[in-house]
Amino acid sequence: MAFLFDSFEGWRKHSGSDTASLVQAVLDYELDQKGRSESQIWDGLNTAWQVMKDAVKTGLEEDMTSRSGMINNGAKKVYNYPKPVLSKEFQNLISRALAAKEVNSCMGRIVAAPTAGASGIMPGVLFTLQEIHQIEDKKILEAMLLAAGIALIMEQKASIAGAVGGCQAETGTAAAMGAGAIVYCLGGTTDQIFNAVAITVQCMLGLVCDPVAGLVEVPCVVRNASAAAIANSSAQIGLANVSSVIPVDEVIEAMGEIGASMETRYKETALGGLAATKTGRAISKKVLIRDIEMLPDEQ
Ligand code: SF4
Repeated sequence: MAFLFDSFEGWRKHSGSDTASLVQAVLDYELDQKGRSESQIWDGLNTAWQVMKDAVKTGLEEDMTSRSGMINNGAKKVYNYPKPVLSKEFQNLISRALAAKEVNSCMGRIVAAPTAGASGIMPGVLFTLQEIHQIEDKKILEAMLLAAGIALIMEQKASIAGAVGGCQAETGTAAAMGAGAIVYCLGGTTDQIFNAVAITVQCMLGLVCDPVAGLVEVPCVVRNASAAAIANSSAQIGLANVSSVIPVDEVIEAMGEIGASMETRYKETALGGLAATKTGRAISKKVLIRDIEMLPDEQ
């Protein structure tokens, strides 16, 4: 089964034009790989969906101040701000992506979809999608399986880790998963799903991984919000039958090529980009000194 997830074209050939078959292929792969029953897989997906929703709720209701202080209840501020830039739905989307990711930065429980650094994107996207379109839970779980298929291929052809391919690999993959999930839930075709994935990745290419002080907080949290927005804009474009022009497999190969040529300082080492700014270095020093002061006295 693993061969199916070498490419989007292979997945399409196996599944035909029926999007339910795309989902079935991932389910078959999971059955094959994990040796679990079908009901165990659906139960696991349901648990993951509950954890995602809980993370959104926690981030919007509880104190979210990280140990470094860089994360300080941003999601709640955005959620409660009285003037939406576009619409209340858009404001909610952004707040929810921030909320779930803040829970991760504050060491709470999240679903790494596909990584902890990108753990706000799928919850923000799916929660808001369900609320606006009254999508039933079963369809959301199917969309999560579809999204897992997207991530499997992106991992094969490029990477899903910031340390290997930069932030495009982490938040870019999560955004692609979200875009595919949206188009699937709204009844899109296989072409529309793959176009939405390709367009999402086109928008995320080249994004470096440069976490301040090596903590998955800044810019990670706000990138979850922007990636959730890109997932939605790409889904809207894909649904309207706008072509990505460059086929999805080639777009992912471009992502892999860019990731491979990215300098090490842009791959989670906290040596470049925002981490290397004057303020970024000052924060890093402060965090390090605090950690040393907190070490147990061995005298
Ligand atoms: S900047 Fe790096 S650590 Fe932060 S979300 Fe992106 S890939 Fe992950």
